[in-house]
This record gives sequence, structure tokens and C-alpha cells, in this order.
Amino acid sequence: MNRLQLLPRAVLRPVTPRKYHGLRRTSTSSVPLSSSTKRSSVIFAATVGGSALVAAYLFWPDSSRSAPTYENAKLSPTHFTPVNVTASIPCSNPETRLVTLAVPRQSLPDIQEASFSPIWSVFIKDDDIQVERPYTPLEGIDDQGNLKFWIKRYPKGEVGRWIHSKTIGEQIEIRGPLKTWVWQEEKWDEVVMVSGGTGITPFYQLLHHELFSQRSNPSSTTFTLLHSSNNPGELPPPELLEPMTSYAQKDPSRFRFSLYVDSLDGDNTSAVDRRVLQEGRIGRRALELALGLDVDRPWWQRLFQSSPLTRRGNTKDRRILFLVCGPDPMVAAIAGPFGRNMSQGPVGGILGEMGYKSDQVWKL
Ligand SMILES: Cc1cc2nc3c(=O)[nH]c(=O)nc-3n(C[C@H](O)[C@H](O)[C@H](O)COP(=O)(O)OP(=O)(O)OC[C@H]3O[C@@H](n4cnc5c(N)ncnc54)[C@H](O)[C@@H]3O)c2cc1C
Repeated sequence: MNRLQLLPRAVLRPVTPRKYHGLRRTSTSSVPLSSSTKRSSVIFAATVGGSALVAAYLFWPDSSRSAPTYENAKLSPTHFTPVNVTASIPCSNPETRLVTLAVPRQSLPDIQEASFSPIWSVFIKDDDIQVERPYTPLEGIDDQGNLKFWIKRYPKGEVGRWIHSKTIGEQIEIRGPLKTWVWQEEKWDEVVMVSGGTGITPFYQLLHHELFSQRSNPSSTTFTLLHSSNNPGELPPPELLEPMTSYAQKDPSRFRFSLYVDSLDGDNTSAVDRRVLQEGRIGRRALELALGLDVDRPWWQRLFQSSPLTRRGNTKDRRILFLVCGPDPMVAAIAGPFGRNMSQGPVGGILGEMGYKSDQVWKL
């Protein structure tokens, strides 16, 4: 029986490695519990699952459960540090906000450390119910200790709603950085990212690091981002869209960007560049176009190609990586479902049909 289904949400143990945005099995973990919370959890567990479950709960290894809070300590994955809410801006999608947290000067870590290279997140602790969830700083951390997030709240979700209720000047506790996925410079010629909803946040962090922050020694990798939202009103806010659209226009050889919406209904987003917006879901043709495959050649001509010819040459000669992050059904359609116990599972979906293997596809 699945322990996670039996325990109340506030006492769920952390599960690693974590999936990114699939909410059914998303990162749900507890932080130090008050004795009364813990007592009632144990009573609940005993009622529903018997003594074996209680024992499993009490002795299950859980580093975050014991993570203390240190007032003036440097930001670290091992303890919580209080930080200040300095901005909380509503977006056109009312379920999302752009939230900025500032790490106080005395708690600023050495941001040149490798742990701050993409892609990383921090745990934010909901103080009311002692639960933590991971969130992705869009631009990493700057010299002043600012961390900017795009955060969605769910109708019955816990931490997202709690963060939305915080106002400028309030303090909240975070710990990190924690690696979501390790980016390796120069390992890939081409990276194709597919995201849905707030699943865009890890990719924005990678793009910001690689392209928008104007590093002195940028890698030669080319990037493509295909992002989908339900409708134009749910697209990422202009603060995210603008840097991506302008970079894609400025240097399409380095970065290509397309937005997809299930439906154009309720389109009131003047900020969206219509040249990148399409109606429909991200399907095989979108991926083939992203790769520069010559999909418009007649099938009989393509039949005799040893491997797909593209405007950029033969795909076999290029080291191509696909990164996929979004709701479970989207991840499954593009790359196949996650496996058991949070594993990647085999490559399936459209990328599986196209013949890509597990060393070329990563589901976040
Ligand atoms: C590495 C990583 C980075 C992430 N970065 C971001 C980010 O930058 N921005 C972002 O917005 N998210 C991000 N997430 C997702 C985030 O961590 C949370 O999973 C998300 O915010 C939901 O948490 P919650 O506590 O608000 O909702 P939860 O309480 O976990 O609820 C999630 C869903 O379950 C439903 N639900 C809750 N309770 C019940 C119930 N009793 N019965 C039925 N359904 C229920 C809710 O309605 C909701 O749909 C990231 C996740 C990971 C793993």
C-alpha cells in the first residue's frame, strides 16, 4: 500500500528524486513538526494503517524534518534562513504571481559556487502548517541576494496559496540551493525544451544563465523552447516572455521560441508577440520543425534518407537533448510517463516514436 496516500498531506515524507510539476506526486515534504501536529499525525496513521505504518512514519529517514532555522546563517540546503518578501505582483493569470525574496546581506552565500549553476530550486516553508515545497528562482540569485519566482496557487493547494498571501515586508523561510538537474556546458549541440504552465520556470533559469545574462564566455549550444498554456491569459507574464521573444528575434541561430495555447479564447494579451503564438498542442510536427527537419519534403523523398535531413545538417551528427517539464499528461504525451518510484521511465510518447533514447531525453 502506498504510504503517501495514507498520511495526511502535512506529514508526507520527502520523496527523492522529485518530479517537477506533476502535482499528483510532486515534492511534498514536511519540516519540523510541532508535537501536537506530530501526535495527531501518528494517531491518524495508527487509525488508518496500523502499527507498522506508525513505525515506518517515525523511523523513515527525513533530513528536512529536522532542518532547523538559523536567523543569520548563510543560505544552505541543510537549514532554513529567514528572507524578506520584497515584491508580490499579480499576473494576468490571477492564479499566478511574480514573487521576489531577498536574502539578507549577512545570509548571502558565495553565489559563484557550482551549486548555483542551473538548474536549482529552493524549498519555501509554509510556516502555518510546517510544509515545504520547491520553487525555481527564474534568474538564479543576484549579487544583492534577490530571488525572483513565478508561483502558481492551486484551489486546494497548500504552499502556493500561502505564498500568495504573503505581503511585502513579511519574512518567510527558505533553504537551498537544491539541484533539479545538472546542466553541463558544451555537452550538447542543441537543447529542445518543452514546457507547460509553470513548468517553464527551470528552462527560464537555464536560458537566463546561458543567454540573457550576457556571460563573457557563452557556450555554443543552441536552444529551442516550445511552451504551452491552456489559453493566452494563462501564458507566462511579460517579464518572462519579453526577454525570450526579443532574444529569439535578435539571434534565431542561438534561440528559437514558440508558444502554444489550447485555445485562443479570451485572448486579451497584447504583450504576446503573435508571430510566436500558435493555437493547438505541441505535437510531432512542432518537434520536427523545432529540430529543423525538412517536414515539407514529400514522404517518398524522405523515405530514402538514411536519417532525417535538416536545415542544420544530419540529426545523427548533432548531440541533441530534449528536456520536458509540465503537467503529467503533457510529459507523457511528449516523452512517455514517469516510471515507478519517481524514476524517468522509458522514453515514450512522440519522442519515443521519433526514435530518441533515454540518454537524449530528460523529464523534470
Ligand atoms: C524542483 C521543483 C521546482 C518547482 N518550481 C516551481 C515554480 O517555480 N513555480 C511553481 O509555481 N511551482 C513550482 N513547483 C511545484 C511546487 O513545488 C508545488 O508542487 C506546487 O506549488 C503545489 O504545491 P501546493 O502546496 O500549493 O499544492 P498541494 O497542496 O501540493 O496541492 C497540489 C494539487 O493537489 C490538489 N489537492 C490538494 N489537496 C487535495 C485534496 N485533499 N484532494 C484532491 N486534490 C488536492 C490541489 O488542488 C492541487 O491541484 C516546483 C516543483 C519542483 C519539484
